[in-house]
Amino acid sequence: MLEIKNLQKSFKGNVVLDGIDLKIEKGDVVVLLGPSGSGKTTLLRCINFLEKADKGTIKFDEMTGDFTNITKKDIAAFRKKTGFVFQNYNLFSNKTALQNVAIGLIHARKILPDKAYEISKKALDKVGLESKYDFYPAQLSGGQQQRVGIARSLALNPYVILFDEPTSALDPELTSEVLCIMKQLAREGTTMLIVTHEMGFAQEVANHVVFMDKGKIVEEGTPAQVFTMTREERTRQFLRRIN
Ligand code: ATP
Repeated sequence: MLEIKNLQKSFKGNVVLDGIDLKIEKGDVVVLLGPSGSGKTTLLRCINFLEKADKGTIKFDEMTGDFTNITKKDIAAFRKKTGFVFQNYNLFSNKTALQNVAIGLIHARKILPDKAYEISKKALDKVGLESKYDFYPAQLSGGQQQRVGIARSLALNPYVILFDEPTSALDPELTSEVLCIMKQLAREGTTMLIVTHEMGFAQEVANHVVFMDKGKIVEEGTPAQVFTMTREERTRQFLRRIN
């Protein structure tokens, strides 16, 4: 289980995360919703230590850490537990799809290149890119680039993959191709925390929905509880706006 307690983060006095508590069990698909600026991206970035939190604790099964007092070694160990799929893919433009997936395995995980390429090919096959190993990002559609981004996370076999609006840069057709891969991963039991505005996807795939506003979790529950039996007015307003 991943457990975050009392996570706090401010940027120059602007409170962006105001005491977030979050639990994710193995196999969970958690969708994180909230208006622009509510702190969703910052939350993902703090969980992955891309951003330094001001306060709070993080626990992954037997491993525990305090965000304010953590060694570089522990940060590296925690990072191994998470994968990150970015809004804008973040691929190396001068590397092929295969090299983009393998690079983390070779450099961060110290896996020998032959083995790293073997694992990377399997990850690319899984996202339907078996014919694109040697293509550079510019030769791939946005949807295909994002699938490389997903393969890169899968190859690292993390406890949880964090998705930050993975389809927001894509046309509807390419969006559905990426969501389709994510649905398949969900069916296979991949643990995921997903920031998205794709409500249909959230209703169909999430087993837990979290609604954030102004740095706080306002409401959470099953998709039926949050979307149909909505308790909080702020959630209702948000859902009205987005639908
Ligand atoms: P969106 O849906 O628009 O992506 P979000 O819910 O993901 O929004 P965040 O990107 O986490 O929100 O931003 C929350 C707040 O923190 C915003 O007010 C933003 O301006 C601020 N913020 C984020 N990163 C930084 C930074 N590096 N420096 C200063 N302020 C920041």
